[in-house]
Amino acid sequence: MLAFGHHAVRAQPRTPIADLHSHYGLITRSLDGSGLSDDMRQQRVALMAWKLVADGRWIGRTPTGIVQKSEPAPGELIAYFHARLDRMKAYAAQHRLKTVLSAADVQACIAADGQPGIVLASEGADFLEGRLGNLQAAYDKGLRHLQLVHYIRTPVGDFQTVPPVHNGLSALGRLLVEACNDKGVLVDLAHSTPQSVDQALQIARAPLVWSHGWVDRAGGRFTDPFGFLQRRLSLTQAKAIADKGGVVGLWGLGLANPRAGWSVAARDTRAYANELAGLVDQIGRDHVAFGTDIEGVGPNWSVNDYTGVRAVLDHLQQMKLPSETIERVAYGNYARVLTAALG
Ligand SMILES: [Zn+2]
Repeated sequence: MLAFGHHAVRAQPRTPIADLHSHYGLITRSLDGSGLSDDMRQQRVALMAWKLVADGRWIGRTPTGIVQKSEPAPGELIAYFHARLDRMKAYAAQHRLKTVLSAADVQACIAADGQPGIVLASEGADFLEGRLGNLQAAYDKGLRHLQLVHYIRTPVGDFQTVPPVHNGLSALGRLLVEACNDKGVLVDLAHSTPQSVDQALQIARAPLVWSHGWVDRAGGRFTDPFGFLQRRLSLTQAKAIADKGGVVGLWGLGLANPRAGWSVAARDTRAYANELAGLVDQIGRDHVAFGTDIEGVGPNWSVNDYTGVRAVLDHLQQMKLPSETIERVAYGNYARVLTAALG
């Protein structure tokens, strides 16, 4: 296969991929059989926020969305989190995936000869069990990207899919944003209510992300009939996140009935590319990224691996978006906010 090898060497290096939100190997696939490390290498995934679902054991799908199903006993959330995190770290070590711990690591992963980079991330700060001091143990194990809330009731703050009880972020939630800034952990506002987003933007000293979802003229409300409607981020707040240097990730959700606002059907990588390009027009090329939510969006996904994400990038190229725009959306924007947050 010398001829093939020669050709491969001469091929242009492909644009790296970064993903603000991925559950690859953590929900629908078994981790060991997931093929994650091979897929990351083959598709040149430079940075992947690998999202541990902090409340995963206590939630479930209903016909209209995801809800809390049971109440964790004291100690269970923290034990669950550390057991899952240890498992993820063992996989990364076994498959020689680089764990991104510093701004220098971010740069090393996006460099031409970079290794695939794992950003250990949590969807929900539930493992704190209400105590800010519990952040340190997670940080020490490598956590660098933290989404404040998810689907179970939390002392951190309100979330989009149930009636609010904290008026946004609680006192703990505000301190958590500050603590993340102090330590060098990227704060992720996905699932938070509009009030929490406003409060976090006021407090934060580093850019913030909304890692996954979609953007609509109006934001979602907990009274909306379906989860994907509740999970809308308003265009006004997307712009506010952008104004502070932050980034909004669009997910790989496919709908059985695509609609204005989210036109993506199952397996439709072209429509996903169109949505990314549309958000670039609305909030600027420095503020849009992939937040695929691989394994988290249910059976109607548009992409379920990085071969799919590469197809989306190919569509963006065919659409003749400027190469600088494609590079920022593909990896540059996540690399920039992560670098700023990790310091
Ligand atoms: Zn989510």
